Amino acid sequence: MHKHHSALGLATALRPVQPVTLIRPHAAERAARFFVEKFPGRSLYAVKANPSPDLLQILWASGITHYDVASITEVRMVAKTLPEAELCFMHPVKAEEAIREAYFTHGVKTFSLDSIEELEKIKRATRHASDLTLAVRLRVSSDHSKLSLASKFGAAPSEVSDLLMATRQAADTLGICFHVGSQAMTPRAYTEAMEQVRAAIVQAAVTVDLVDVGGGFPSVYPGMEPPALEAYFAAIHAAFEDLPISYSAELWCEPGRALCAEYASLLVRVERRRGDELYINDGAYGALFDAAHVGWRFPVKLVREDESDTRDMAFSFYGPTCDDLDHMAGPFMLPADTRAGDYIEIGMLGAYGCAMRTAFNGFGDVGTVIAEDEPMASLYTGIEEPRRNSVVTLKRN
Ligand SMILES: *Cc1c(COP(=O)(O)O)cnc(C)c1O
Repeated sequence: MHKHHSALGLATALRPVQPVTLIRPHAAERAARFFVEKFPGRSLYAVKANPSPDLLQILWASGITHYDVASITEVRMVAKTLPEAELCFMHPVKAEEAIREAYFTHGVKTFSLDSIEELEKIKRATRHASDLTLAVRLRVSSDHSKLSLASKFGAAPSEVSDLLMATRQAADTLGICFHVGSQAMTPRAYTEAMEQVRAAIVQAAVTVDLVDVGGGFPSVYPGMEPPALEAYFAAIHAAFEDLPISYSAELWCEPGRALCAEYASLLVRVERRRGDELYINDGAYGALFDAAHVGWRFPVKLVREDESDTRDMAFSFYGPTCDDLDHMAGPFMLPADTRAGDYIEIGMLGAYGCAMRTAFNGFGDVGTVIAEDEPMASLYTGIEEPRRNSVVTLKRN
């Protein structure tokens, strides 16, 4: 893969006609080492955030040994890419055939569930195996998160006791898991969920061997600057230590976004300007799904050899497809003289950006290069260098 120092180096050298993904292996490595060293338990990578085999290799080499997978295709792909990795099938509603193949062909022993029906399915599909780790998913609030995961999955408080008792019978290791929603902006999201874990354990009076606090760890975006990740880890650790569980119980988490948001950015070209609207060559059906559909704001930077001396103004983007929905409202702050032919770098697209690209309308092709500079924002720049004034370093250059 080609290497460039930065988006500017790439744009001036190649003047690319198609969008280009810039990957930053050093940023993913730094995030993984941070979780491996500082989370007070085991960190699983949630593969759906970005299933790129290159990224999986980097995370593995940085100490991430367990992977949260949600479909049989993810199981096969991770098993092939990282044959020694431990796979955990954490989707609470699975096809019976998928469970069977995962268990018998790929050695997957950890499954989540949120209903008696799913428990029965797992028992049938594994022929009542005696070496299973089964995690009961609780429904918890997404109130502190930017993207809710509170409606679809999770056993309701009234069902949890019976489900925990039934699962205890079938499990070698019994776990409880939850997901507070993506981009949780305060550690309280986890401490409040841990109160529900406590209530469930007390009510069911079962021995619990594993508590998995799921994903939701934030990254940094314009207008969304979360507290330091250490504050989340400390709050989770304290709440875990307080639970009435087996003294050998394990603590797990499943970060997706936090491990890979900084891994990739995107270089796009402006094809047309209409007032404060820029028509760019990637969009809602490419890496900008969240920017279009949930109004997510990503950092942007004009990539031009002679820096603009005009002040910033607010732009919105149109993507390349012939569809009104292919619109990203932003606002994206860029110099007022931004025009057709200019390149723009859009940052923090490593999670839920590159992973969601489609080929709709013939616009799926994208190049990939390695960039050696720093991501446009980082939650991790404090670890190797002395800490700066703020935990969050937003770079604008
Ligand atoms: C999506 C998902 C994750 C990762 O969530 P992030 O918000 O990206 O950290 C973890 N666990 C499960 C079960 C998920 O569905």
